[in-house]
Amino acid sequence: MSDAELTTPFRQRAGSAMKDEFLQEALTIATTKFIGLRREAFAGFPEGEALRDRARAIKEATLQHLDRHLETLIANVERLGGHVHFATTPAEARSIVVDIARRTGARMAVKAKSMATEEIHLNEALEAAGVTPVETDLGEYIIQLAHERPSHIIAPAIHKTKGQVAELFTRELKRPAEPDPEALTRIARAELREKFLQADLGITGANFAVADTGTVVLVTNEGNGRMVTSLPRVHVAVMGVEKVVPSFTDLMVFLAILAKSATGQKLSVYTSLVQGPRRAGELEGPEEFHLVLLDGGRIAQIGGPLREALSCLRCGACLNVCPVYRQIGGHAYGYTYPGPIGILLTAMLEGAPAVRDLAHASSLCGACVDACPVRIDIPRMLIELRREVDDEKLAPWTERVAFALLTKLLQNPRLYRFAAKAGRVLQRPFARDGRISRLPLPFGEWTRTRDLPPVASRTFQERWASDKDLRA
Ligand code: SF4
Repeated sequence: MSDAELTTPFRQRAGSAMKDEFLQEALTIATTKFIGLRREAFAGFPEGEALRDRARAIKEATLQHLDRHLETLIANVERLGGHVHFATTPAEARSIVVDIARRTGARMAVKAKSMATEEIHLNEALEAAGVTPVETDLGEYIIQLAHERPSHIIAPAIHKTKGQVAELFTRELKRPAEPDPEALTRIARAELREKFLQADLGITGANFAVADTGTVVLVTNEGNGRMVTSLPRVHVAVMGVEKVVPSFTDLMVFLAILAKSATGQKLSVYTSLVQGPRRAGELEGPEEFHLVLLDGGRIAQIGGPLREALSCLRCGACLNVCPVYRQIGGHAYGYTYPGPIGILLTAMLEGAPAVRDLAHASSLCGACVDACPVRIDIPRMLIELRREVDDEKLAPWTERVAFALLTKLLQNPRLYRFAAKAGRVLQRPFARDGRISRLPLPFGEWTRTRDLPPVASRTFQERWASDKDLRA
């Protein structure tokens, strides 16, 4: 999202999304489908629950010795003939990739889906350096044509209906397109085939990197990942440092639950294992292979309050079940990573001030924890984040005063009883048919989009004191 768009308050962005009928239709269809597929996949997989625990334990153990696993990974990638670069910041990561592009004389780069390259805004940097980036994942291709950003971690164009995609293809590719997913895929494939052959540079992310063997693992459904890693002369993989896993045995545990959580598949259609550049005697593969390890605030969180978020597999399951995401979609969040985990990752990468409003964009219902393959306790960290926003006085003063008063009220039983009595009297002009539909300013915001239940005619304490049946 551009800086200009970010200056629009979150509440306004969310409000616009909720009024967008196309977005609402697309989100409901897609997230409902993902939820059903995930449920079915785990229902037919009794080992799933134990594997989720195992996956979480592997992630925790790996984070304990991340430095050691990264050293092993680096040594093995270099042994296979690859080059490893370390980027502390997104700017460093961008400049590493741009330097590789310049040195190798690249004019066009084909990309497979990668949230890490979205995170570092790589496409803009490549364009500025005279290199044309071409997204080859169908969803990413669609949003690149639409000049937008992904709105979901694994389904970047989830916010678009097939009718909108057909209109987009007709307009941008100058060829008639019907709102039929298969026909649209055929058109995209024909357009992209040429680009694969023309590109000098292939850029991917990495779902995992196996330290013991120096293998970069890509999990895709369209086969474009294989083309990107094998056809261009140079392959660059950009990955967050937390994606390292110690061994192939560990990798198998993650592969067993990742696709089930993401799309309800037993396995993704393609699991590509990349080991360095083409070796003597091999017919395919790039001449050069580079692995860019991105910190970007991750390492500081190994001992920080957001540590758990470093276990995220980027499956997107928590987005699909989140009642907030399902209403507002990904763009309203305003940053690269949307949804409940996106709020935590944004806080990790951009700092707590960036999520001043977003920290409250959760009902804390816990659906995300239930869906998460590695059981990340997102609500717990969101509450921590809200506390930090409050402690650092990042919230507006009106909000801070309101919550300070509420805290006093809830801590003092006499004050609470008095407030309940006063509320009963004061609400009379506004309560109708057992609900309050409109309150005057400054409370009007509360009832702008929902009703408020009225203060009960008797509080529980009053009933307890007078009602013998209740105490029996
Ligand atoms: S937090 Fe869990 S559910 Fe959400 S994307 Fe990460 S791994 Fe998937």
